[in-house]
Amino acid sequence: MRVFNFAAGPATLPLPVLEQARDELLDWRGCGMSVMEISHRSKAFIAVAQESEALLRELLAVPAHYKVLFMQGGATAQFSAVPLNLATPESSVEYLNTGSWSKKAIAEARRFCKVSVVADQAASGYNDVPPRDSLRLTGSAAYVHYTPNETIGGVEFDYIPESGSVPLVADLSSTILSRPLDVSRFALIYAGAQKNIGPAGLCVVIVREDLIGRARAGTPVTLDYQAMADEGSMLNTPPTFGWYLAGLVLRWIRAQGGVEALGERNRLKAQTLYRAIDESRFYRNPVAKHCRSWMNVPFTLARPELDRQFLTEANAAGLTNLEGHRSVGGMRASLYNAMPLEGVQALVAFMKEFERRNG
Ligand code: PMP
Repeated sequence: MRVFNFAAGPATLPLPVLEQARDELLDWRGCGMSVMEISHRSKAFIAVAQESEALLRELLAVPAHYKVLFMQGGATAQFSAVPLNLATPESSVEYLNTGSWSKKAIAEARRFCKVSVVADQAASGYNDVPPRDSLRLTGSAAYVHYTPNETIGGVEFDYIPESGSVPLVADLSSTILSRPLDVSRFALIYAGAQKNIGPAGLCVVIVREDLIGRARAGTPVTLDYQAMADEGSMLNTPPTFGWYLAGLVLRWIRAQGGVEALGERNRLKAQTLYRAIDESRFYRNPVAKHCRSWMNVPFTLARPELDRQFLTEANAAGLTNLEGHRSVGGMRASLYNAMPLEGVQALVAFMKEFERRNG
């Protein structure tokens, strides 16, 4: 039986995608083998790679002067690749710190250049984003980096920072493809696949062409955007099965009506859960209302001693992976594209019933 899986990533995938992958597992497109068993250099696989790039470009309306790269090492590798490709050791770069993933990106960038943290949300307990007009960017950094959605804190920017002519870099791991996005506002976007794109193993990088070809000496070739772009993201053997599945997910997104339709659905899903939390005196979400994440909804119980029981009973009801990140505790429901509204409704019904019995 399939459960409603609220995991933060690797996360739930669309059922029709899994069914198709199952159906073609042993004999993919009549070649008598699975897609995992053929060369990444074969015509058939190159067609998969090209189709997924074309779909991603179409879904996000990626302008022609951006390259789309399918890289490895997860979003974490991009914490290093970004400074290695866009900054020299002497460069100053600016980071916004809105939570756990920002902090990791900052710590890694510090190994490669001079990092200045231009906004730090510590005072809000990382439950808010810096007000738009409070940002003091110098305008002379090699780039500005931020995390539009903090997967652990459940904080999502409700605006795109204005960086002027300084390249704006965004870690969109947990929100890419969840609603429309104006790619042209960014110089570089990266996103680990295991939430809204497919299984773990790939990281999508969308980078403006003029920022490619500037990697500093000593950059590992697998992290060099130019080398990756020159080889069509096949500098070495890519995770072919994950790439194939990503292609199926992208097709599924198009069949759903694209990011506009998913955005509406995601808004409704998030509203449904936040309303239930706000209407109750038993559940609580600490994030400022204007920047609550549509994808990751952390919440706590008024009686934390009931956390275990809540999780056990939820599990038994087919609502799984609701445990909050180990660093913060409590609960977290991730509502990525593949989570249907019915899953959120089932969660809300369970929460009401749990509160009635234990509140
Ligand atoms: N950034 C964000 C916003 C994330 O949510 C995650 C993973 N949860 C990462 C970076 C790290 O991704 P990976 O594990 O693919 O390196």
